[in-house]
Amino acid sequence: MRKLIHLSWIIGLLIPVLVFGQTEELPGVLKDHVRVLASPEFQGRGLGTEGAELARAYISTHFADAGLEPIGEDYFHDFRVRIGLAWVPAINVVGKLPGSNPELKDEVIVVGAHYDHLGYVYRSGDKSIYHGADDNASGVATLIELAAHLSENREKVGRTIVFVAFDAEESGLWGARMFLQDSVVHPERIRGMFSLDMVGMYEANNALDLKGIASFAGGRELAEQLSQKHHIKLGNTSAEIERRTDTWPFGNIGIPAAHAFTHLKSPYHQPEDTYDLLDYEGMASIKGFLADLIVELSQMPEVNPSDAFAARLKKSEEGRVVEIKKPFFSFGLVLHNGSGHHRYRDEFFRAKSVYNFSGGLFAQFNLSPSFTLQPELLFDLNGSKFGDGTFRRTSITAPVNLQYNLFQIESEARFFILGGAYYRYNVGGKVEGNSIDYGNDFEENEWGLSFGLGVEIMRVHLGWTQRIGMSDINQSHSVGTSLRDRNSYFSIGYRF
Ligand SMILES: [Zn+2]
Repeated sequence: MRKLIHLSWIIGLLIPVLVFGQTEELPGVLKDHVRVLASPEFQGRGLGTEGAELARAYISTHFADAGLEPIGEDYFHDFRVRIGLAWVPAINVVGKLPGSNPELKDEVIVVGAHYDHLGYVYRSGDKSIYHGADDNASGVATLIELAAHLSENREKVGRTIVFVAFDAEESGLWGARMFLQDSVVHPERIRGMFSLDMVGMYEANNALDLKGIASFAGGRELAEQLSQKHHIKLGNTSAEIERRTDTWPFGNIGIPAAHAFTHLKSPYHQPEDTYDLLDYEGMASIKGFLADLIVELSQMPEVNPSDAFAARLKKSEEGRVVEIKKPFFSFGLVLHNGSGHHRYRDEFFRAKSVYNFSGGLFAQFNLSPSFTLQPELLFDLNGSKFGDGTFRRTSITAPVNLQYNLFQIESEARFFILGGAYYRYNVGGKVEGNSIDYGNDFEENEWGLSFGLGVEIMRVHLGWTQRIGMSDINQSHSVGTSLRDRNSYFSIGYRF
């Protein structure tokens, strides 16, 4: 029924394409697709909306025109997504181009582009539509033309190609997750995956990223060779799987997956992402390049994960890939904000707290799934307040902490406790307005213990840390007591 309701609509929208489609040049054809998909009638293609239904009708009509086979009775893979307390129906559009090589046609390459976007909102009574031209009418338009092109050249296509316009990407990659979970194509048959997500800004970006292409054995070399033929300048060609698009659920079960992307050059996730801003010549070149790349991959005797990618896959005891391990080494920036004071060992009272800060670089070594070692090198402002005087120091501090992960969600989030030690080298500062005399009155070198807890979500790191000085920083003993430093911090960090 959902197809019939809007049939008149779709015919109206298709007329320009049907009449002029054959003779028009590719950039114009791509522009027609984007103009329709990002038109006000499609209302930003929000999950579960009529605009999304119009988009599905448009895409499935073009899949049929291209000669793609449906996966079942029709082109639709229905599933449900939980948003808050509600279960929202969502639908992927899936078309199949059977491979021409009898020995390879059971193996599949998935080429996907999400068609959902953010829909619309009401701002002080006015409807504001998120048209999503670059995100991701650009990918869907390119997907449709790739399907048409490969279908016309189907004798060159060895493995079976499955084209998917994914739904519910913006709300958590649900289209891709459910495509795999429901075995629309059995995951063991899938040799590789491409996600076309935001490909409309080639000229502005002056490069096409193909992040993840090196997760295919020989993928980067092949892409570089073909990019010269198509005069495409390539950006990122790493073996790392992009998490923020549909490549991630595939990569996370060991399937090589590449993200075609021309960066966030359009008004990303804003109503101003409209069809008139895109580079259709660039999209046409990208389509030509990807068509050749997919044909080559479909004909290769074997398509395997590269060594770099395979080395990062964590497997279950039965040898099934469970997830992508985090890289052994990474680094980032961290800021610790808090307060500190001195403890008088021989007294029952302590000094008052003053603002403390330390910030700098950290490194992470993932020793095992449970343990991460994190050394830091920090510029440090610390001190204390006593009587009516203030003690302020500048130091270089190097904590080394071992983090133990109490629980983790895939490799995307973890909650941990930490413990370790720090060394501090004190370089300057003032006490009651006079410069500190290190080596005479106060110790230059100091050490202590630290403990705390934290959470890391994707690349962002939040935590609480306590540093407890274990060495006496008072050298002259003119104060008559031993002094130990104590600091407490809220920390925020970003891992590159
Ligand atoms: Zn997107």
